[in-house]
Amino acid sequence: MPTIHNLGFPRIGKKRELKFALEKYWQGNCSQQALEETAAELRQQHWAEQKHLDFVPAGDFSFYDQVLDTSFLLGNIPEQFKCAESFKKSHLLDQYFSIARGHSFDEHGCDCVHQDLSAGEMTKWFDTNYHYIVPEFRTNTRFSLHPQHLLAQIDQAKKENHRVKPVIIGPVTYLWLGKSKDESDRVELLESLLNVYSELLQLLSEQGIEWVQIDEPVLVTELSEQWRHALRAAYYRLQNIPVKILLTTYFGKLQENLRLSCELPVDGLHINALDNELEVAKVIDWFPSHKVLSLGIINGRNIWKSDLNHLLNWLKPIYERLQERLWLAPSCSLLHVPVDLNSEQKLAAEIKDWLAFAVQKLDELDIINQALIHGVDKVQQQLEENKRCIISRQQSERIHKPQVKSRVASITADMVHRKSAYAVRAKVQQQRFNLPVYPTTTIGSFPQTGDIRRARLQYRSGLLAEVDYLHIIQQEIKRSIDEQEELGLDVLVHGEAERNDMVEYFGELLDGYAFSQFGWVQSYGSRCVKPPILFGDISRPEAMTVKWIKYAQSLTDKPMKGMLTGPVTILNWSFVRDDQSRSETCFQIALAIRDEVRDLERAGISIIQIDEAALREGLPLRKSQWNDYLDWAIKAFRIAANGVQDETQIHTHMCYSEFNDIIEAIAEMDADVITIETSRSDMELLDVFDEFQYPNEIGPGVYDIHSPNIPSVAAMVELLQQASIRIPAQRLWVNPDCGLKTRQWDEVKPALSNMIKATQQLRTALQV
Ligand code: GLN
Ligand code: ZN
Repeated sequence: MPTIHNLGFPRIGKKRELKFALEKYWQGNCSQQALEETAAELRQQHWAEQKHLDFVPAGDFSFYDQVLDTSFLLGNIPEQFKCAESFKKSHLLDQYFSIARGHSFDEHGCDCVHQDLSAGEMTKWFDTNYHYIVPEFRTNTRFSLHPQHLLAQIDQAKKENHRVKPVIIGPVTYLWLGKSKDESDRVELLESLLNVYSELLQLLSEQGIEWVQIDEPVLVTELSEQWRHALRAAYYRLQNIPVKILLTTYFGKLQENLRLSCELPVDGLHINALDNELEVAKVIDWFPSHKVLSLGIINGRNIWKSDLNHLLNWLKPIYERLQERLWLAPSCSLLHVPVDLNSEQKLAAEIKDWLAFAVQKLDELDIINQALIHGVDKVQQQLEENKRCIISRQQSERIHKPQVKSRVASITADMVHRKSAYAVRAKVQQQRFNLPVYPTTTIGSFPQTGDIRRARLQYRSGLLAEVDYLHIIQQEIKRSIDEQEELGLDVLVHGEAERNDMVEYFGELLDGYAFSQFGWVQSYGSRCVKPPILFGDISRPEAMTVKWIKYAQSLTDKPMKGMLTGPVTILNWSFVRDDQSRSETCFQIALAIRDEVRDLERAGISIIQIDEAALREGLPLRKSQWNDYLDWAIKAFRIAANGVQDETQIHTHMCYSEFNDIIEAIAEMDADVITIETSRSDMELLDVFDEFQYPNEIGPGVYDIHSPNIPSVAAMVELLQQASIRIPAQRLWVNPDCGLKTRQWDEVKPALSNMIKATQQLRTALQV
């Protein structure tokens, strides 16, 4: 019989129970014991949902992040925390949260110089939208085993009569994910780290554990020989401990690491089998006959039903060959999908038929398993039902809109280009706008106050009439324009009061999108996102932003910047259909945005910003695939942006501007102005412009909007001076580094006022 198992279950809860319990605890409104009880209940429920599996995972539950859990498991606490007295005195769980979220400790008990005890750095987990806390390493980092949290989970699962497979992050991936804080080479810590892993595996074997899942997703990335060597060293070292290791890879193909993955001395290998039949065949050929092969056959990152009949046809001969050496699982941890489709009450039945959340994905696994063991007759009905849903999705008129497809097919080369080159446009635009040197602007949003949120909630639940809601939004727009005029900004924005979220807002107005009620996915800690579901061909029934921007423009003589989200960002922050290429879907969105851009232009809006906040994060894991992605992503942006006259100025904005390695692609976007996030690195990110002559205008963010601190005039003058060393003054803009929606008005006003003062100083200096 095949073995079926799961790599990890979402921990946040069907109704985000963990989020609410955590936030209550942080606010001091519930005890640690109550929080622990909620956690134990959630684990119990989640294992109950997985009880038909041969193994349930343990150790996949986390109060904040599994990488931070690993740091605690291995005794790797950041240096600056270790010596703070109040940190030492606090309870383990509070220590954990203070690293996760930052902490202001008043007294420092030792003589060392403290940076502030800000939260550990956070970054994206491979190419997902989940963020982990980056482990920190130094030459003198020492590891020690602290297995209590993991053992407690294992004990609980055992008491609840589950066969349990602990899940841990592998030593090489753990080092790879971290950062060296002192120039040391983190791979050199492997030896001492392996001592702790050995101790842990030994302990697990003493606990009667048969299999341990060790995640090494680095195996789907391009690895230097040093890292490949580290993998060999690690698994040769761990091979003699009497516990079986399932080496687990996910998020991509093994490619050049395939042979290495097959050869490492472990007892089993899990690989992503989605869209990967060739590689699976190769692995089977390569594989030593004593090893177990686990195939990740159900997509753990998206929400579509699997085609079970197709899967079965493919799997039958594999099963005949491997027999009980075949294991089956989702492709990766189910952390990246919502919990249970059954919670959804409002989705159209037809659309619901196409979807599977975590619980449904495990049911799919069970059906496949039954069919392999007992033959298809045993699950005839489920297979028929699955077939019906798959065909419905292939044929539905909700999805397939011939006009949309043919529009994409007839995209012409001149739709991708502006009429004239930047130099020509810049002149026409300078005449039109006559902006001063160092023009000032903001990134789009102004504070989303409690009043705005309340009004939207009331409007959505029918307690507030549409006219009243519209009136409240108009008042907000007026307020933000008054403030901007008083501050003396040059290019104004309407403030985005009407938008709940920069992607969801457009999703709701586009055809081809659906929305779940409870489709939450953990983004970091207690924060969840509910990605809209892009299921069909995308079209724009009517203008989406024009009335708001027109209204805003009617209140001022200054240019009003129309504000849109770009096609790549809309795509990257949605659950996207898998029945056509991402590029095809992206071009459909691009055409809808292009129409909006042209409508704005026709309505007299002279400056239009198209945000591509998430362009960078869509980069594939392997560099060798970057060009392919960038080619279509940049093309999509250009389709959206370039349908305008020379005198219309196109802006774009990008967060996380660590884009030294993609600067040429950024330049190819050919936006007249790009605003980017650079303030946190003291403009270091601009070093790239020493080498690369960026041709168009840039607004390097001059202050960090993520902090409540009011930036000083001097600090911003300094940053601008640094920027003007690399970029000529005529092409520099002055702006914050991102939207202001998460800030309060009493933070925004003094910050922007200082920004304007800094600009004035620079302008005066230029005249001298
Ligand atoms: N225009 C958006 C805003 O200001 C941009 C947000 C973002 O870059 N994340 O909120
Ligand atoms: Zn931003």
